[in-house]
Amino acid sequence: MKVFFSILLLALGGCAAAEPAPLPGSSCLRCETPLGADDRAYACSYECTFCPMCSEDLNHVCPNCQGSLEAKPDRGKGPLR
Ligand SMILES: [Zn+2]
Ligand SMILES: [Zn+2]
Repeated sequence: MKVFFSILLLALGGCAAAEPAPLPGSSCLRCETPLGADDRAYACSYECTFCPMCSEDLNHVCPNCQGSLEAKPDRGKGPLR
């Protein structure tokens, strides 16, 4: 039974490692600058995300969908107690 569980854990670990699954909007689609929750970021309505510099370069137009890039609203620090 012990062996079975270690194999199961190994399989689960392997699965997680095989799928890095980047969070959507976690980095600039153009220059790949990481964009944290506290960083200014610009995004179109399809959630293509760009850093402020690239957004300026692109004249605030998304190169993927031609939509306008809007500054993402500041994300709060979560609900107060
Ligand atoms: Zn960028
Ligand atoms: Zn877009």
